[in-house]
Amino acid sequence: MKAEQVFATWVEVDLNTLKNNLKIIEQHTNTPILAVVKANGYGHGYLPITKAAEEAGVTWFGVARPRMAVKMREEGIQANILILGYLAPERIEEMICLDVSLTIWTLEHIQQTISAAKNCQVPARVHLLADSGMGRLGCMPGETTKLAEIASASEWIKLEGFFSHLATADEQDPGQTQQQVKIFNQLIDELSQKNLLPEIIHLANSAGSLAHSSTHFNLIRPGIIIYGLPPSSEVQIPEGIQPVLSWKSVLASIKDLPPHHGVSYGHQYVTTKQELIGVIPIGYADGYRRVPGNEVLINGHRAPVVGKVCMDQCMVLLEGIPDPHVGDEVILIGKQGDQEISAEQVAKIWQTINYEVTCGIGSRVPRIYPE
Ligand SMILES: *Cc1c(COP(=O)(O)O)cnc(C)c1O
Repeated sequence: MKAEQVFATWVEVDLNTLKNNLKIIEQHTNTPILAVVKANGYGHGYLPITKAAEEAGVTWFGVARPRMAVKMREEGIQANILILGYLAPERIEEMICLDVSLTIWTLEHIQQTISAAKNCQVPARVHLLADSGMGRLGCMPGETTKLAEIASASEWIKLEGFFSHLATADEQDPGQTQQQVKIFNQLIDELSQKNLLPEIIHLANSAGSLAHSSTHFNLIRPGIIIYGLPPSSEVQIPEGIQPVLSWKSVLASIKDLPPHHGVSYGHQYVTTKQELIGVIPIGYADGYRRVPGNEVLINGHRAPVVGKVCMDQCMVLLEGIPDPHVGDEVILIGKQGDQEISAEQVAKIWQTINYEVTCGIGSRVPRIYPE
């Protein structure tokens, strides 16, 4: 059955495009990939994304929350999984028992990890995170070697990775990134001199992967780019990389409103003449933002959203749309005919970044995976 006969709004995810993007990134960087699938795979649906990436040869996945790691293991995903940041202390044992790798950056983490690993009767797989300039999670550079020493001394910890995170790799000016690379390399030297250097070294996000080969080391951690979206307008993306996601709906109603008729809550929009107004069954409860300036595609033409976006629907002006019918496909993000609305264009209207657009697509919007 066709999606438009079943759903009011839905997201279509093209897993072949994902696989192709991964292949291009691998060719471009010549470095193994840890695919970042946190936040439900940036809104794309993390289980199908993970399985498709695994089929494409990806052996590492990065998540933010333990719930995803649990589900991935339940679904039979055997690849390496790294929790990229904070893990509530009570969840450490569960993660170790599921063979999930943890990120640590304090002495307390090491102690908690050792006692949890003892309970599981298996050494914990651990990556040490240093703050080389992000000002977020991670130990300060000066603490790194000491922590590595303490962690390595325990038979309950397998220190398998060392990493850091870039703050400005998506900007034109490479200065700050070069500074972070320098600090990271110094830490690698220190660890290496003391024979403490773990096997897996990683620093690059998508922007680092694409724009700074000095950040590649032996594993890259791309997120946004595997979904075919640019990390910023300042990063050149390789040819052939395509967006994986489209967001669709249907025309639910068409009405010929008389002049001076208000539309939606507050009557922010009032018809000036007799106007054809369509209703789309998508609203802010689906993650479609309640801001002015939204646009959609209908029959290959752009139509402005008029009046306030409601919880479950919004209205569009159908002037200039050729032959609109109830049931016609509506594109919120994606292509129709020779027109396209990109996640970046939506982000601009919403005054945010493409990341927040796809992550914010509501959980009630079904994700479908056409063959
Ligand atoms: C989110 C995240 C990434 C991926 O970032 P992108 O900009 O989407 O490539 C990589 N590493 C860490 C630690 C992250 O939190």
